[in-house]
Amino acid sequence: MHPSEDPEILKSVLYDKSCTCPLCGKAFTTKTIKLGKNQVTSIDEDLYAHYSTVNPLLYDIIVCPECGYSAVTKNFSSLLSKQKEWLSAHFYRGSQIPAYGEYTTIDEAIHKHKIALLACITRKSKLGEQAYLALHIAWLYRDKGDDAESKDFLKRAYDGFAEALTKENFPILGLDEATLLYMLAAMAHELSKPEESKQYLSSVITMPGLSPRLKDHALNLKEKLYEKR
Ligand SMILES: [Zn+2]
Repeated sequence: MHPSEDPEILKSVLYDKSCTCPLCGKAFTTKTIKLGKNQVTSIDEDLYAHYSTVNPLLYDIIVCPECGYSAVTKNFSSLLSKQKEWLSAHFYRGSQIPAYGEYTTIDEAIHKHKIALLACITRKSKLGEQAYLALHIAWLYRDKGDDAESKDFLKRAYDGFAEALTKENFPILGLDEATLLYMLAAMAHELSKPEESKQYLSSVITMPGLSPRLKDHALNLKEKLYEKR
């Protein structure tokens, strides 16, 4: 059993955090990972980080149990009044909210991300936020071993981030420009677009002040791209 499926371990790593729904005003609690209880064990080429105890993506979406409004933890509380109008008109789900378990499974996490993506589209959020959710859905499908769905969402994330890069300001949910350029290069590589991957990669490698960690990732990817010729 992976640690993230063992209720005893989960109990020691997660705690209930209070929050209030910005759409309907309902106060409720949501599971959050305790700081320092989870270490990175490996990182995929596109920067999907795997953790020792629990996958943070399983607990990164807050769903209001009353009205179903959902968003990534970082953005849950902030809604403009216009967005509330749009969401109330099109998104109010009432009793249709599924009964999620106390501890989130991969399938539940995928479902939560999808309704958060729907909420994002309804409140006309930035493209970067929609791409961020699509990327996390792609990663969750990767964990499930569902390559077709994973590629499909990766493609949406790639297109969304590529457009956000030209239209939106950084950081995008904590991603700075260098990190996003690198991730686009890695995603293009996964999606069998070597020329696009090389282009993004060359912009990353020449960026001043690039972190050594990102530079390592970029050089590894470069090696793979050019040895394939
Ligand atoms: Zn609500």
